[in-house]
Amino acid sequence: MRKAHKRGKSNNSLTVTAPAKINLFLEVLGKRPDGYHELETVMQEIDLADTLTLETTEGGMELTCSEPGVPCDESNLVWKAVRLFQEETGVRGGVKAHLVKRIPVAAGLGGGSSDAAAALKGLNILHAKGLSDATLMGMAAQIGSDVPFFIKGGTALCRGRGEAVTPLAVRHRFWYVLLYPDIRVSTAEVYNNLRIDLTTEKKDASLTYKALLSNSGKRLSLSLFNRLEEVALRLYPELQGFKNLLESNLSDGVMISGSGSAIFGHCENKDKGEKVRGKLQEQGVEKTFVVSNL
Ligand code: ATP
Repeated sequence: MRKAHKRGKSNNSLTVTAPAKINLFLEVLGKRPDGYHELETVMQEIDLADTLTLETTEGGMELTCSEPGVPCDESNLVWKAVRLFQEETGVRGGVKAHLVKRIPVAAGLGGGSSDAAAALKGLNILHAKGLSDATLMGMAAQIGSDVPFFIKGGTALCRGRGEAVTPLAVRHRFWYVLLYPDIRVSTAEVYNNLRIDLTTEKKDASLTYKALLSNSGKRLSLSLFNRLEEVALRLYPELQGFKNLLESNLSDGVMISGSGSAIFGHCENKDKGEKVRGKLQEQGVEKTFVVSNL
């Protein structure tokens, strides 16, 4: 089993892995009275990850990040997670955190949410609190809708605003080519521009999770669905060119992840993925990754 954290030399520091996710299926079932959207989504962690190093200190909060475009103040989800953990558990002292970003930002890959979950899991270990996943997921839900998924990670069917997580026991290794078009998409803008047509027949996630559980890449490709894709393409028309490019190199299913801008396509194996990645690079697309599920 992969180890998702590593102790520092002194016992007061810990490095935690924070993987990205892709949405293999995402349907918006409606708008809730609290303003959130009711979702049904299948999220899957992939082996593209940030790393978060946490160190307990005498007092105060300090956050640094390898990526200049990411805020290092209280708006960072890591900061929120640290503060929440301290409030909920009553632990005293400070935290020095350093984030190495590898997950493209504002790309629909859940980077900030995963970092926040990593902070909760890391502090639980550093402070030897022994909190259960259920307790950590309760805290995670207060930070953001996608954060609870990352407490257990893997692959899961998520409902509600995303916080009602049912893990799926996926044993097969699926491969994907992931393309980041260097465009930052605002998730809020995508949801605000979604037109919920009550007459449209809703898709359900069963084809996707059956494909995953039966180890069928072909069926998985055919079942990929994202209700937000049409909105993201309407708001950011330049995404279509990148999607076409990935489609022309890959016969299998290609789709935007979450609210975008990252686009992924299923491929049979790593070799095929690397070939496609090479071609995309020749065609001038720099930020591409070959990834598989965790
Ligand atoms: P979501 O779908 O939850 O909006 P995303 O995966 O599309 O997320 P993120 O990479 O999480 O996008 O970043 C969205 C915004 O959140 C960024 O523009 C950034 O200002 C802010 N943010 C807060 N904390 C973080 C973090 N730890 N890493 C990256 N961005 C963060």
